[in-house]
Amino acid sequence: MSKVYFSSLHGKKSWLDKTSKLFDRAGFRSIIEPGDIVAIKVHFGEPGNTAYLSPIFVRRIVDKVKKAGGKPFLTDSNTLYVGARSNAVDHLVSAIENGFSYATVGAPIIIADGINGKDYVAVNIEGKHIKEAKIGSAVYHADAMIVLTHFKGHELTGFGGAIKNIGMGIGCRSAKQIMHSDVLPQVQDDKCTSCSKCIEWCPTEAITVFSTAKIDHAKCQGCGECTVTCPSGAIAINWMTEPSVTQEKIVEFAWAAIKNKSGKVGYFNFVLNVSPDCDCWGWNEAPIVPDIGILASFDPIAIDQASVDLVNNAQGLLGSRLKDMQHEDKFMSLTGIDWRPQLAYGEQIGLGMRNYTLVKVY
Ligand code: SF4
Ligand code: SF4
Repeated sequence: MSKVYFSSLHGKKSWLDKTSKLFDRAGFRSIIEPGDIVAIKVHFGEPGNTAYLSPIFVRRIVDKVKKAGGKPFLTDSNTLYVGARSNAVDHLVSAIENGFSYATVGAPIIIADGINGKDYVAVNIEGKHIKEAKIGSAVYHADAMIVLTHFKGHELTGFGGAIKNIGMGIGCRSAKQIMHSDVLPQVQDDKCTSCSKCIEWCPTEAITVFSTAKIDHAKCQGCGECTVTCPSGAIAINWMTEPSVTQEKIVEFAWAAIKNKSGKVGYFNFVLNVSPDCDCWGWNEAPIVPDIGILASFDPIAIDQASVDLVNNAQGLLGSRLKDMQHEDKFMSLTGIDWRPQLAYGEQIGLGMRNYTLVKVY
């Protein structure tokens, strides 16, 4: 049974002090050796969204890592969709506009998969779906990692927790295409300018370009590189897969993201401002439950299970998108997605366990 440390929001004590105390009680000091380069995985929030984790919490973690002798940096990987975070330059501008900068958090920012999502390390795993997972190199090469997750609803996985933050959140851009789709890419002839840039990145020589690009599906392995490379959007992003399959793929990428960091990763879930949708949207709706608290654990499965249990046991908020206040499963009621496969599969492959003890920290 895994331990999940939990600080509720009751009492006349700063939530920031509670965060610092959780870092100590969870034992995160022990995973940082003097001189370790420590990735602090965050989500900087799409511009326009205000539900993402506030940088003032992040600064507390940065301070703790520094006191432990580590060298922290903030990181996230580029998005698959073309928004304000799909390349490192836009991503850094968005992060700064959302309040993350050296001046505010005390640590530099390094986008995990580089300028255009091509800066990754291929990690071999024996997954049901994935054999080679492309992980953002900045995270791969870090010595340790603290994962800070704003816990909320998610339209694809039911909720967005620690597993999604490291699985989808550390995979490079093409990895995100793999997680989102089981369909091989197609070229839209009317958009193709015959620039041939996709050829360069195709690992299987499946693409030829004459008047327009053509993909030989007998050779294509569905890696997604052509989709994220095409400057004309001629190879459309596919969003076609079963939610349970996507969840299992995310779990496998999470496994790959921490594979070289045994005993060197700690997780925080902030169950605050539990908005119905992902922070990748440029807006957010009213939270579905009152602010609940902050959790810390070494176990990404246990911390997500504990977080979802806390939300499901809380009073739903009138005026939120929740319609069925009596429903025992708020995320299922909200999204229609069964979120359990990610936790069950994560447990099955040894990422953690769903049984947990909640240790209250005051
Ligand atoms: S990168 Fe896009 S526009 Fe260029 S050849 Fe390939 S499909 Fe056509
Ligand atoms: S998905 Fe990968 S293997 Fe298939 S055509 Fe595109 S780059 Fe080549």
